Amino acid sequence: MTTPRRHVPPGLREQLDLGYVFGSVQTFAQRPLVTELQQLAEWQADVAILGAPFDLGTTNRTGARFGPRALRTDAYDPGTYHLDLGLEIFDWLEVVDVGDAYCPSGMVQESLDNIRAKVAQVVELGVMPITIGGDHTVTWPAATAVAEHHGFGRVGMVHFDAHADTADTIDGNLASHGTPMRRLIESGAIPGTNFVQIGLRGYWPGADVWAWMGEQGMRWHLMDEVHRRGLDAVLTDAIAEAMDGVDHLYVSVDIDCLDPAYAPGTGTPEPGGLASADLLRALRRLARETPLVGFDLMEVAPAYDHADCTVNVAHRCIMEVLAGLASVRRDAGSPNVSATGPLR
Ligand code: MN
Ligand code: MN
Repeated sequence: MTTPRRHVPPGLREQLDLGYVFGSVQTFAQRPLVTELQQLAEWQADVAILGAPFDLGTTNRTGARFGPRALRTDAYDPGTYHLDLGLEIFDWLEVVDVGDAYCPSGMVQESLDNIRAKVAQVVELGVMPITIGGDHTVTWPAATAVAEHHGFGRVGMVHFDAHADTADTIDGNLASHGTPMRRLIESGAIPGTNFVQIGLRGYWPGADVWAWMGEQGMRWHLMDEVHRRGLDAVLTDAIAEAMDGVDHLYVSVDIDCLDPAYAPGTGTPEPGGLASADLLRALRRLARETPLVGFDLMEVAPAYDHADCTVNVAHRCIMEVLAGLASVRRDAGSPNVSATGPLR
């Protein structure tokens, strides 16, 4: 294992430090901005945060294209020491921000191609991608790139959402935020039998789509079940279902899985959802207990947010994943500074 090269010029370091309070140069959690592929290769990071500011797949309120920027700039700095786990997150886990995939306005195919290519660049270097959307269409190219690297059919999925996102088309659109999970199963990227959904509720999709989902062997845990059994018990089942016969796990969070009381800033809010406290613990568990190879956080639309509720909880969703991964490192006794390379 070669020694990582992790040089942050002092001027950039100063700007990042300033930005942690009220500055203008802001990355996710003020992590170093790594823009060059060679630089990323030499850095030997564990996790790369990347933005996908795409919302051309939305069916109701648009605006998730501003999600990546909001999570970097509007979520307030909570510090970096995880109280429950008792660890300094970035002492154990090397995290960089690699900026955004280019999503030119109005250009669906080019945007999705660019997202897939950017996630592929990260994952091919052995770095775990955390993708910030953008609407849920983004999970189609992002999870495809992860599955291409680890093997089509070798990656399971735990998907938190109010909506199944398994329609064939919406208004004739194959690349809608209501269709990405169907695309991932149809292509063979994620096996239907390892595709597990949590938090579904409301009035969509219709019976024909549920029949298709059943034919694929998909598993789902409706919000009604979560309400009765509790998320922790449901998650234990979901992990076992998603990991049955595969080697890796991808986790996708649509912020509208949360009740709109906790996350109003989203395009298709559906009442009766998860509580923040439950979701944050579930994500920490997934990071600690599963062979996680990819994570995404979708559908934050800051224009509809109040008091930064949604951006803060979305930001903390990612912090819980990072803290969970860091605790895996700590328990293995391999701090980030010893350059132990990729997590798994
Ligand atoms: Mn949704
Ligand atoms: Mn969704």
